[in-house]
Amino acid sequence: MIHIDMDCFYAAIEERENPSLRGQPVAVDGIRGSDPIVCNISLPKPVITSRLLEPCKGQLTHYEPMNTLQTLIGGALLLLTSISAVAEKAEKTKVLYVTHEPGKYHKYTPQLAIFKEVGQKAGWDVTVMTGEHDAQIKKLRTKDFAVGYDAVVYNFCFAGCRDLEAADNLMDQTRVNGVPALLIHCSMHSWWDTFKRGKAGAIGPHYHGKAKAKEDLVAEWKKNHGDKAFPAWGDFTGVASGSHGPKKPIVMHVLTKEHPVTQRFPDGFTTGNTELYNNIYIIDTVVPLIKGVQGEKDAVVAWTCPQGKSQVMGLSTGHDVHDWNAAPFQNLIIDGVHYLSGKKSSAK
Ligand SMILES: [Zn+2]
Repeated sequence: MIHIDMDCFYAAIEERENPSLRGQPVAVDGIRGSDPIVCNISLPKPVITSRLLEPCKGQLTHYEPMNTLQTLIGGALLLLTSISAVAEKAEKTKVLYVTHEPGKYHKYTPQLAIFKEVGQKAGWDVTVMTGEHDAQIKKLRTKDFAVGYDAVVYNFCFAGCRDLEAADNLMDQTRVNGVPALLIHCSMHSWWDTFKRGKAGAIGPHYHGKAKAKEDLVAEWKKNHGDKAFPAWGDFTGVASGSHGPKKPIVMHVLTKEHPVTQRFPDGFTTGNTELYNNIYIIDTVVPLIKGVQGEKDAVVAWTCPQGKSQVMGLSTGHDVHDWNAAPFQNLIIDGVHYLSGKKSSAK
């Protein structure tokens, strides 16, 4: 018989699984099951944090029986969990996939099905955030929506979107909350009025980037947010893109061979008929991984770019389902997510 006090660990895991628990009083109950490790049915010292003590200051000692706690805290949450379930979940990479359906120019429903298969192959715990176009943009305004995930993958097409709050909140998931992001294809062609369609210099004298924003959007932003940096989408993606060529094959050349994302990518791989996204501008901190060549034109098609506390990876191919069915494309997604999340590949 051993006794290991792991309540704090369970509480942390539960908060990771369910971010809405954060900041709330949390208690850990004993395990009812066959697991040989048993937690005390009381509140162990590590879980008594200031936030838990706050509502019942002076009334709590170290080991209080559960019923006393419930009386004192009222809303205490009992977390019944099992060690095997916690262990299994803890080691899986948690991925949030954000898309919209059905999609006007892209077949997002079959792409979602392929993503789920890819996630299963990689051994991920995939959560899908989908819905119709406008509803999805609204959801992106939800504070901390990506918190608790190891990585978030965006595959959407919001080119005409002018919702700055949604864009800024999405960027904050990576820059402030530290959740890395993989941006696929038309995700690059989103929020065009913040970097592509506007006027050079519109963002103001303190802005040293290359984004061209619509003046009315900049004014709206300044009114509501003062000096906070204007959410120029092309500055977030790192490689800004605003158009593409004909649907023809792209030959892909690895630019950075030592990178974990490109190690198993077949240099010289040729896609089926697809779109080569142009590069309007590339910000200084971008690490180009793969270049695409289509006839006379070439562009960076895979890259990474630091963003605040974390980073993004861009992958601008992936227009059609046949792109998604290609193994090298799927492997770029898998290796990209594993690189971004810092977790090892479990793919065989
Ligand atoms: Zn496309």
